[in-house]
Amino acid sequence: MIQVTVPFQPPKEEYEAMVSDIWLRNWLTNNGPLVNEMELGLKEYLGLKHFLFVSNGTIALQLAIKALGLSKEIITTPFSYVATTSSIVWEGCTPVFVDIDPESFNIDPAKIEVAITEETEAILATHVYGNPCDIEAIQRIADKHRLKVIYDAAHCFGTRYQGESVLKFGDISTISFHATKLFHSVEGGGVVSQDPEVLKRLAYMRNFGHNGPESFDGMGINGKNSEFHAAMGLCNLKYADDILAKRKRDTKHYNRWLDKLKLQKPVVAVGTEFNYAYYPVVFETEEACLKAFETLEMNRIFARRYFYPTLSSLEYVTSEPMPVAEDISRRILCLPLYYQLTEVEIDMVCRIVLRSQYY
Ligand SMILES: *Cc1c(COP(=O)(O)O)cnc(C)c1O
Repeated sequence: MIQVTVPFQPPKEEYEAMVSDIWLRNWLTNNGPLVNEMELGLKEYLGLKHFLFVSNGTIALQLAIKALGLSKEIITTPFSYVATTSSIVWEGCTPVFVDIDPESFNIDPAKIEVAITEETEAILATHVYGNPCDIEAIQRIADKHRLKVIYDAAHCFGTRYQGESVLKFGDISTISFHATKLFHSVEGGGVVSQDPEVLKRLAYMRNFGHNGPESFDGMGINGKNSEFHAAMGLCNLKYADDILAKRKRDTKHYNRWLDKLKLQKPVVAVGTEFNYAYYPVVFETEEACLKAFETLEMNRIFARRYFYPTLSSLEYVTSEPMPVAEDISRRILCLPLYYQLTEVEIDMVCRIVLRSQYY
């Protein structure tokens, strides 16, 4: 059986050694030493001044929306994981969908301005599959209309844009360290902002608003993460270079096989050091896509229809039609990609995909 993804596992002894230390300290959560070390390690690895480690990538989005004080319309992408949209609705805001660019699969800046109303307060865009949005165009529109920008950079561990971590852009960027992401802490996530005021609010909000044992600075929630999660993150961080390099090699290996099929792939933004977080391919028709999907499944290989259906079709939102996103979403498959995947397995996946298209 080949799954679409399998979590990375560091050598068990390395995690056990960390757990033994946690045991001795009996400091299990609440900004413990490993959480601090994790934040320091990530700042160093990603080249960031600040990084707040939180419970998961969804609470990161919710904290971002809350910290910017948003309550009305947020322009967003229909082509992402459900958390991008559900966080907006959960925070009492209204998602206004704008269709995606047919080459990058990220929100299309050319279509943003017509969607802006008097109620629009922000743009929440996903760098889908780790590929940066058109950051300059989005910032120009945001500046012109005084909108906040949040990037759901859940897929972006290791992606650099113009020589810097892509997490530096926007008013706030969020990331996920869920077990299925290329770098993980079992559950976990983070928020990044360059604005000290925003950062301060995020830090208070992550910890119930506490600014002392008996005092509070505004309302908060429990967005903290534990020593055990930080330990897993720290163990995995040592292998981050390996994980990124392996994905790049696997992507090339896939390409060598599948280039014959002329499948469409997202065009990565110029100026990007890409992290190869996923291996998405777009078939010519939905029928061809389903044929590949089902033939793989018959061979116990589980590709995923990431992201199908579009978020604009969720029952708790309303939307104009999103023809580009709906079209791509019906025809796209993410093929298996993870650290333990072997070249022989990739060969097998590719042979089956090729066979499904020719017969
Ligand atoms: C995984 C993911 C999230 C949610 O992150 P969790 O850590 O699972 O809560 C949000 N947005 C996108 C695009 C994701 O892929």
